Amino acid sequence: TNLQDPPYLAGLNPPQREAVLTTDGPVLVLAGAGTGKTAALTARLAHLLWTRKAYPSEILSVTFTNKAAREMRLRVGKLVGDVVEGMPWLGTFHAIGAKMLRRHAELVGLQSNFTILDTDDQLRLIKQLIQAADLDEKRWPARQAAGLIDDWKNRGLVPADIDAGESERYANGRGGELYAAYQTRLRALNACDFGDLLLHMLVILKTHRDVLEHYQQRFRYIMVDEYQDTNSVQYLWLRLLAQQHRNLCCVGDDDQSIYSWRGAQVENILKFEKDFPGATIVRLEQNYRSTPHILAAASGVIANNGGRLGKELWTALSDGEKVKVVGVWDGPEEARRVGDEIETTRRNGKSLDDVAILVRAQHQTREFEDRFIAIGMPYKIVGGFRFYERAEIRDALAYLRVVNQPADDLAFERIVNVPKRGLGDKAVAKVHQLARAEGVPLMTAAARILDTDELTPQARRALGNLVGDIARWRDMARDMPHAELARQLLDESGYTAMYQAEKSADAAGRLENLSELVRAMEEYDTLGAFLEHVSLVMDNEGARDDPKVTIMTIHAAKGLEFDTVFLVGWEEGLFPSQRALDEGGTRSLEEERRLAYVAITRARRQAVIIHAANRRIYGQWTSSIPSRFVGELPDAHIDSETTMSGGASLWQANWSERADPFADVARGTGRGPGWQRAAGATSSFTTKPARIVESRASAVSLGNKGRDDLSVGMRI
Ligand code: ATP
Ligand code: MG
Repeated sequence: TNLQDPPYLAGLNPPQREAVLTTDGPVLVLAGAGTGKTAALTARLAHLLWTRKAYPSEILSVTFTNKAAREMRLRVGKLVGDVVEGMPWLGTFHAIGAKMLRRHAELVGLQSNFTILDTDDQLRLIKQLIQAADLDEKRWPARQAAGLIDDWKNRGLVPADIDAGESERYANGRGGELYAAYQTRLRALNACDFGDLLLHMLVILKTHRDVLEHYQQRFRYIMVDEYQDTNSVQYLWLRLLAQQHRNLCCVGDDDQSIYSWRGAQVENILKFEKDFPGATIVRLEQNYRSTPHILAAASGVIANNGGRLGKELWTALSDGEKVKVVGVWDGPEEARRVGDEIETTRRNGKSLDDVAILVRAQHQTREFEDRFIAIGMPYKIVGGFRFYERAEIRDALAYLRVVNQPADDLAFERIVNVPKRGLGDKAVAKVHQLARAEGVPLMTAAARILDTDELTPQARRALGNLVGDIARWRDMARDMPHAELARQLLDESGYTAMYQAEKSADAAGRLENLSELVRAMEEYDTLGAFLEHVSLVMDNEGARDDPKVTIMTIHAAKGLEFDTVFLVGWEEGLFPSQRALDEGGTRSLEEERRLAYVAITRARRQAVIIHAANRRIYGQWTSSIPSRFVGELPDAHIDSETTMSGGASLWQANWSERADPFADVARGTGRGPGWQRAAGATSSFTTKPARIVESRASAVSLGNKGRDDLSVGMRI
């Protein structure tokens, strides 16, 4: 390396340098996993700042997660030091969308302090609208409507764009009507959902030339990581914003496109070359992350997909261990096995921070959590919504939201009778009626109804107290630090007392969570900023930084790397998911395979793939067969230790020798060794394997119905 090189160029290979130094004009970096795409993008950002080609405020850099944004900020800071005074436009599409929309909210009929609804609020709202429209909620579930509306928003469609064909997708053609009603309701609440953060801004950019020109001028440079997972609305954003300077640099890997179920369009990669003719295309081929065995295993699997853009990958690293493939008896044994292996790793001096367990579906984490709690293995769940999803946290946040924004009806509804203050459904319904009749927020209606004789004296007193309290808290909010306000509010509302009275272990945990919430608030300047943070960042990455094993979904692991990675539950019906199997065709199956590729390529040194012969799914023991992806791993690069392959004869042969995994299996009544589960299991192995297999399909698809992977890595 040249001694005169600025720090950020040190060690970069020639194509990486090209990606960094080609600052002007459109650039597309198309390269496989671990080839240093994100590293190059980070260096590029450093380069633009170091050479003063742009002020920090003139660069728009999009990452896929908040965490990735934090890391990039940190690294650029280290690389170029003082040059950086904060990078206001570095973040996820959602974070950037929220920031822009706050400035221009009035152009779409919102106020700048609008609330960002989470999925739960969104569903409750849609449910109300479904009821108001006299639709059968069972037949036309709110979830389905929410998914459809999301889809439209991802595609950049506003209610007026919904034609009869689209509308037909819900409630016999009433989809468009529901969408319109939903948008109207959101405006009345001064709220928007995640999709709106991008869609409203797109509408503004399209209809307000001055705003568009402002941002087109401002963003001299635009950079996007994980470009293969952008959806249409994001793509339209980029195309509009980059028109002026045309300095757009996108990096991605078609083999890692894993969010099509959320509207991502891998075709955006192909469109790039069309929309920006003459773009520089950079290909990176050296993988710096993984050993040759890991790389070969991943390449072997993805080679089974058709229609790939195709990339060469090589690594200079030495061979290392082969990918380990382990067959176990059931879920608990899987968790035990992983726990044991990690224990060994730890004894060999490795940090737990370098170990990850990747699951296909969120519900799979529980088994590991239970095990790790039992053996005292520190772990963290990343990408789930654990902390902020807890009921007590949601309640506390609802109080804060009402104080922050009195028109926040959903929040008001949530706390109106929590803790119980003698406001029955009837009283609440009356407030609703008045709100609807007068077209005002619930808070206003609540205040007005006090002047009537609609309520019983008891309800009137209770509601009067609540309305008075909220008004008082709003006053206090003006000059009291917001964490202090939260503390007082939780006391005065009786909320803390409710759990103090409960005296259960559970209640103690909840009180701890509430204190943790107040602690978290102290890190933010204003209540509004904190609430915004909560809406955007729903992950609970440890407050304390002692080493922990990471448990996360594959979706959430995109872009990350760990020395040792455990890939669990590689069974047909779990991975590939039953949903993908039910859908048939190659499309969803190929997306599952890309997920497998992403999963394997997260490993630097060691990858362990596990499949279990039996799973308990919704109380039902079912037998499973190893994932087809296990079969696609090239033999030369794996070590198999398949003690359990899922065939009935094999189970029986092994039955008597393997005491441990069968500890809770008692002798049944059938021929030979019985399949009867011991007491405690909700269902039993009383049938022959053939029957078990038969019951499997329905049980498994039930298990997947909850769209487990939805709660992953979104919101970002
Ligand atoms: P993914 O497709 O998974 O997002 P990526 O292409 O973004 O991967 P990076 O995460 O940027 O790859 O890099 C993978 C690893 O290789 C990182 O540990 C990074 O520090 C390292 N790396 C990248 N470029 C180089 C280089 N030129 N020399 C040495 N190490 C490098
Ligand atoms: Mg990356």
